[in-house]
Amino acid sequence: MNHPQHASNTIDVFVINDVSKNTCINYPQHDSKAVDVLVVDDTPENIRLLSIMLSKKGYHVRKAINGKMGLTAVQAHLPDLILLDITMPDIDGYEVCQRLKANPKTSDVPVIFLSALGDSLDKVKAFNVGGADYITKPFQIEEILARVNHQLALRKAEQEIRQLNAQLEDRVKERTQQLASANAKLLKLALCDPLTGLANRFSFMERLEQALHQAKNDVECQFAILFLDCDRFKIVNDSLGHLVGDELLQAIADRLQQLLKPSDTLARLGGDEFAMLLTHIAGIDSATQLADRMLNTFSQPFSIRQQQVFISASIGIALSSSEYEQPEHLLRDADTAMYHAKASGRAQYQIFEPTMHTAALQQLLLETDLRRAINQQEFVIHYQPIVALKTGKIAGLEALVRWQHPTRGLVSPAAFIPIAEETRLINQIGNWVLRTACHQLSFWQKRGFVDPTFSISVNLSACQFAQVDLVEQIIQILAETQLNPHCLKLEITESAIMDNPEAAAVILEQLRQHQIQLSMDDFGTGYSSLNYLQSFPMDNLKIDRSFVQCLDETQDSLGLVPVIKMIAKTMNMKVIAEGIETTQQLIQLKALNCDFGQGYLFSKPLEAEEIITLLASPVNWRY
Ligand code: C2E
Ligand code: CA
Ligand code: CA
Repeated sequence: MNHPQHASNTIDVFVINDVSKNTCINYPQHDSKAVDVLVVDDTPENIRLLSIMLSKKGYHVRKAINGKMGLTAVQAHLPDLILLDITMPDIDGYEVCQRLKANPKTSDVPVIFLSALGDSLDKVKAFNVGGADYITKPFQIEEILARVNHQLALRKAEQEIRQLNAQLEDRVKERTQQLASANAKLLKLALCDPLTGLANRFSFMERLEQALHQAKNDVECQFAILFLDCDRFKIVNDSLGHLVGDELLQAIADRLQQLLKPSDTLARLGGDEFAMLLTHIAGIDSATQLADRMLNTFSQPFSIRQQQVFISASIGIALSSSEYEQPEHLLRDADTAMYHAKASGRAQYQIFEPTMHTAALQQLLLETDLRRAINQQEFVIHYQPIVALKTGKIAGLEALVRWQHPTRGLVSPAAFIPIAEETRLINQIGNWVLRTACHQLSFWQKRGFVDPTFSISVNLSACQFAQVDLVEQIIQILAETQLNPHCLKLEITESAIMDNPEAAAVILEQLRQHQIQLSMDDFGTGYSSLNYLQSFPMDNLKIDRSFVQCLDETQDSLGLVPVIKMIAKTMNMKVIAEGIETTQQLIQLKALNCDFGQGYLFSKPLEAEEIITLLASPVNWRY
């Protein structure tokens, strides 16, 4: 053991144990890379001793013999720790420490002050200038190593914490970004229609509200909304599949978008419904011109998966006015106008008028009235003769319902069948018509007014097809009235089948098995007629009045009648021409070998009594 002399300005290391032999004290080992310790001391002997001691322990020691050199050494290479003498010429240790701490690059390096015996150690000052620790003379090697290691461990922990903090910050940043993009996606979902990328109902209503607000503040500011609904879109979905349906909607969205100005809003409200908001328009003409262009764009087929798909659309228009307080009311009115466009034959536009509301109200009253009529049995049937064109004899009758209204008089089916269908009251009415007509024919047969081949035609509407017990009902009525099923002809339109083709196929097959005859009504006015004729075989085909009207004096204008007749022939169906009003039409139809005819030329629909008279009169329709 050494006890060196203590002189002023000299510093000695007081070694308790021989460091080289010391194996008892284990200080934490730092990184595999040697720890860099800078010793700043103006006493060479101190530097030497500290250097030997620390080097032996595996530290990499650098030396500086004054404050200035120390600062330069720190700048050149950042040490892990500094042992700094306090009393030095020029710049003392406090000053060196202060400068190091003032510089962000060097402020983190821990500084342990070395205080010689003669130094006036100001502990408070040492800490105030940023010192981490101090060691006083006589130095003991264990103490130095303990303090150095302690500081290094502290620094390492600090660095780790800082690193963890940085990682944490990064993670928070990353999560924040993820959240922000998730939010953006959610917002898009909330405001956009996912199929077409257009605005959805919610954002459309918001924009509509803004437009309404603007118009309230500025009377000059006019806008309009267009409500567009595709006609018979369900058929596309049912026949070509939902994927094609979806692609068609996207294609429609694209076409509509192309017709709009950037300031206009196009939205998909759901299903096959679209809405457009046209702001700052001069008047209704801007809206109707756009509606015309839209209807026109639908006249071209859409190419979807190598298929040409034709579809039309109906449009309702509502123009802004000071009376509107809520955006919903505008949309409701455009919707009402759209329904009127559909009811007027589809593929057109209608502008909303307040009377449309009255019409809706009237419909409601009509419904109530209709329910009463069913209870009071206010319906009557008129029968219209169907004539065999070859013989000119009446071969059967079509039963056509009328409403004997207590105040309105005789109401035509066109005025109440649509609402009866909408409210499903048609099921009751239809059942009554069927029973009464079958009963009537059975009665006439029994009385010998007609022969056993004479038939009665009864119309079946689409929603009657939706009844699960329809076939049972019919069979029961036939049994009740003791009518031969072969004498009953059920008239069905293509659209009735198209509303639910699968169910219709089953019902039609069952009816055929029961020998009941089937007629395709209004042929040629429905959708893709040929396809469905093949899948739903019928006994008779009724050529719609519109085709018969085309028959004129000249051969050139036979229109489609010869083609329809040909189709019927190849499919083994009898043809009934409807709405024959002139002898000319009759002559043409006979020339085309049409089997049956029906129309005012022969007779209007008549009451049962009148039919007996007619049946008794001699045949007068031979041409
Ligand atoms: P529909 O089945 O096409 O019946 C033929 C319609 O054409 C009848 O109108 C008939 O009076 C009319 N008509 C017949 N010949 C001529 C003609 O030469 N010229 C003109 N302009 N019209 C002619 P109606 O009786 O007003 O019936 C209209 C529609 O109401 C029927 O069309 C049918 O769809 C429906 N309907 C009538 N009765 C019933 C029924 O009991 N049940 C169901 N579901 N619908 C019915
Ligand atoms: Ca009919
Ligand atoms: Ca018809």
